[in-house]
Amino acid sequence: MKIAVLSRNPKLYSTKRLIEAIEQHGHEAIIIDHLRCDIIMDDSGPSIYYHGEKLQDIDAIIPRIGASVTFYGTAVVRQFEMMKTFSAVSSLSITRSRDKLRSLQILSRNGLRMPKTAFTNFSKEENKTLQLVGDAPVVIKLLEGTQGLGVMLAESNKAAKSVVEAFEGLKARVILQEFIKEAGGADIRAFVVDGEVVGAMKRQGKEGEFRSNLHRGGSSNVIKLSRAEKSAALKAAESMGLAIAGVDMLQSKRGPLILEVNSSPGLEGIEGATGVDIAGKIVDMIEQKMSKKRRKVDA
Ligand code: ADP
Repeated sequence: MKIAVLSRNPKLYSTKRLIEAIEQHGHEAIIIDHLRCDIIMDDSGPSIYYHGEKLQDIDAIIPRIGASVTFYGTAVVRQFEMMKTFSAVSSLSITRSRDKLRSLQILSRNGLRMPKTAFTNFSKEENKTLQLVGDAPVVIKLLEGTQGLGVMLAESNKAAKSVVEAFEGLKARVILQEFIKEAGGADIRAFVVDGEVVGAMKRQGKEGEFRSNLHRGGSSNVIKLSRAEKSAALKAAESMGLAIAGVDMLQSKRGPLILEVNSSPGLEGIEGATGVDIAGKIVDMIEQKMSKKRRKVDA
């Protein structure tokens, strides 16, 4: 098979590991920079040109789409899907997971537990909205934020009100969320590939920091998930339609609470913490799905 990794940076750990795993499994690997793909539509059907050449012999793609290029990146993934190229992660599920609000709506509909969250348009009635999530301390999140940037903790209702007003003035959308104090500045990342948790780690924020993001100086170590945590992670990935997912959860008194589900989770932290060949598991999944697809065509 010829398998393409859609990535903007061949030097990234995740990109390098995926290329290595594809080759170790005896396939041909290439890196395609999705921002350099031209998407062409006409009456002969959808096609993609890369550096002026028509792409036509790619069997499967593994999208690694950065949050800042979601629109263009998912359009390229969708074009591959339209050309009947197998994608390890569907364009629809990437689009869903990139929207914090839409993700929480989907997870809530599917009965998953999460910190109580509010999104409001009534800027003059913050007090009422704050009461809905249980008053301060309250977490305020910018809808566009990633890597812990744009996630704030307001210790009082007054502070929460002024932060919401400030963002309102900047025309930035925020959600208000119940603060899970007992999580103690830690969260859990469960890595899901094709309906199986292939690795899990606990990330702890640095001293005095409630955000556990490794980009914010947090540290991680491997953990064994409880049955409830495993089942929440699998159900969250399934609800989003993600075959590859990094599910972030908080440990709370009422069990695991889903924070978010990532569609291009990094491999470095999780492979480093667990020692599991997760890139290899992703290629295994592609092989299985492609052989199923072939059997269907043969039948
Ligand atoms: P991002 O997508 O920017 O990483 P998250 O929603 O994952 O934003 O939040 C970043 C970190 O902040 C989480 O990993 C967690 O440690 C902490 N955190 C987020 N929401 C809450 C909450 N409601 N209660 C307690 N801690 C939280």
